[in-house]
Amino acid sequence: MDEIQIAKKLIEIESISPEDNGCFDVIKSELKDLKFKFEQIDYLNIKNLIIHRESYQKKTFCFLGHTDVVPTGPEELWSSPPFKPTIRNEKLFGRGAADMKGGIASFIAATKEFLKEVDEPNFNLMLLFNSNEEGKMENGKIDKLISMFIDKKKFIDYCLIGEPSSLKQVGDIMRVGRRGSLSGELTFYGKQGHVAYPHQVKNPIHFIAGCISELTSKNWDSGNDNFDPTSFQISNISAGTGASNVVPGQLKMTFNFRFSPLSTPESLKLEFEKIISSSGLKFEIDWSLNALPFLTEENFFIDLVMQSVQSVTGKKPIIDNGGGTSDGRWIAPMGSEIVELGPKNKTIHQVDECVDLEELATLKAIYKQILLKVHQSC
Ligand SMILES: [Zn+2]
Repeated sequence: MDEIQIAKKLIEIESISPEDNGCFDVIKSELKDLKFKFEQIDYLNIKNLIIHRESYQKKTFCFLGHTDVVPTGPEELWSSPPFKPTIRNEKLFGRGAADMKGGIASFIAATKEFLKEVDEPNFNLMLLFNSNEEGKMENGKIDKLISMFIDKKKFIDYCLIGEPSSLKQVGDIMRVGRRGSLSGELTFYGKQGHVAYPHQVKNPIHFIAGCISELTSKNWDSGNDNFDPTSFQISNISAGTGASNVVPGQLKMTFNFRFSPLSTPESLKLEFEKIISSSGLKFEIDWSLNALPFLTEENFFIDLVMQSVQSVTGKKPIIDNGGGTSDGRWIAPMGSEIVELGPKNKTIHQVDECVDLEELATLKAIYKQILLKVHQSC
């Protein structure tokens, strides 16, 4: 099976973000002699591979993927080495099998089959890959590349992202939007002193306690049909001088909002600061907006993908916009219709990450259907 062979070749490569380490070469050799033009645009530490037929007068359909993977964690906990693709019990094991080298392999295999049947598609077929989806922002994201496209008036009409969206069966869940992500680091200033002299100190740990209870019980918004309510989580709190008889003078707390479009970064900042101010202590907050929420509101591409899934699996997928953020957030400003559909996400980022072999074949069939339907409707 072509998709399994391609997935194995990709998994073999240690492409921990922001390294591509040769995955692009595998992709290019799989798609050579198919009239594609290959371009690579790199900046900071991110590499971007653009594969297209360059017919931008037609509607553009783009498959978006990332070749980087997250670190393996302790290798001794893996049943087989993470970068040695291994088949056991009809499953393919290896780092990136589900997130997202399996999805990439299925799409490439589908593209090859599709182009064998349709030599000249009625649309501009494009594949876009980058090497830093999972990695740090400072290594670069595809936003700059997307700005270059917009400047050249090259727009993506339909964007299919092969991220692992499925839950129990491949194709049972797809995403058409994602929540936003807003992080902050709070520095909370009290007054240091001896624990035996409480009237001479202001313990920031005690002062923050009331704020935390308010922050964690607050209803930031109620969500809507497309999004869960905004959630607030604290990821770290640190204070203390190391001595048991000293009240610390400072406390640091890092936190994150996953927010629906019913809240804005401004509204969340304002409400958060109001609660912290009520403590009466001085504070500073270093905010970072990681992602704005996005949502595909047009139905054309969503319906097309749903019908494609149904024609292969017999069931229509459910739309669920949960999970973390994705590269879809960078594509959204183009006004593209975005759908995320890929393998099951049960083992992603875990030890013994895997995909079912059958899952890759089903996914290839779904992706091919999508290409055929886009061709027929353009
Ligand atoms: Zn991913």
